[in-house]
Amino acid sequence: MSYIGRFAPSPTGPLHAGSLAAALASWLDARAHRGRWLLRLEDVDTPRCVPGADAHILRQLQALGLTPDEAPWRQSQRAHAYAAALQGLLEQGDAYHCACTRKEVEAALATAGRVHEAHAELVYPGTCRHGLAGRVPRAVRLRTCDAHGQDIVVSWRDRRAGPQQQNVTREVGDFVLRRADGLWAYQLAVVVDDAAQGITDIVRGADLADNTPRQILLQCRLGLPRPRHLHVPLVLGDDGRKLSKQHGAPAIDVQSQDGALRALAQAAMHLGLPETLIARACAGPATVSDWLAQAVEAWRASHLPGAASPAVTCDDNGAPGVGHDASTPIR
Ligand code: GLU
Repeated sequence: MSYIGRFAPSPTGPLHAGSLAAALASWLDARAHRGRWLLRLEDVDTPRCVPGADAHILRQLQALGLTPDEAPWRQSQRAHAYAAALQGLLEQGDAYHCACTRKEVEAALATAGRVHEAHAELVYPGTCRHGLAGRVPRAVRLRTCDAHGQDIVVSWRDRRAGPQQQNVTREVGDFVLRRADGLWAYQLAVVVDDAAQGITDIVRGADLADNTPRQILLQCRLGLPRPRHLHVPLVLGDDGRKLSKQHGAPAIDVQSQDGALRALAQAAMHLGLPETLIARACAGPATVSDWLAQAVEAWRASHLPGAASPAVTCDDNGAPGVGHDASTPIR
């Protein structure tokens, strides 16, 4: 079975307990499948990138024994691929230019009587779907309804959470592919790169699960294969919120082998691996590589037998869905 997994951190700071759990889960899943594991630095959102964070992450991963099978990719070097994908979508009529500012989107939603909850998705009302009426283009958006103006419902299966479904048209709306400031949107970059790197399996934090239907829709529109997904539980801080660099989560300390083992044990505990494995990391004198070898066996026992769903591809009609979960055709 061919398996290619990846870890795709944004270099907005060093790895913390939350990002390490995602890194370890994707590494263990790849090794348990005897697959390859790649690393991609998602540095497209340049204003959020922190100088030196990329090198810091690479050093941390190395100390933790989580070494990729190829030199890391950097999204900042992939603009040509994103531009080609965007051009294709524009030519197919699947993407369009948008002249609206955020304020205008909010005003249009208010006029239509649609309340926008704070932190909720700002569902684009479709103002520029049929042309700019002489206004200056800013962003580029993906059209999320089908050719008949019907909603698109994407069905997919998460290896942990099971069958999932989202009405992308209503719950997300026409989303941005290239931002008004000229930067590439995460959704486009991640889909183009996952396909270019041949990724078969995406293992990442549960906070990214609600991006998956958008990414599946883009894969279908671009004629790209669909990887399997496993979203692992988020590590929460004392305040119950997701640990994040923005909220000051401390960098994991990998100065010593003990520090690296402690960090790995904490991540393993979070991922629900057996207590004996956690205890072994703390009891010493295990080495990082011995411990990782045992962790791969534990992951294999708990995640592999019958747990993985078959790989899926878009069918001839561009219909999304996993196996028999096919839903509304995308077109
Ligand atoms: N770059 C994203 C992040 O750091 C992860 C993207 C992904 O795994 O799809 O949150």
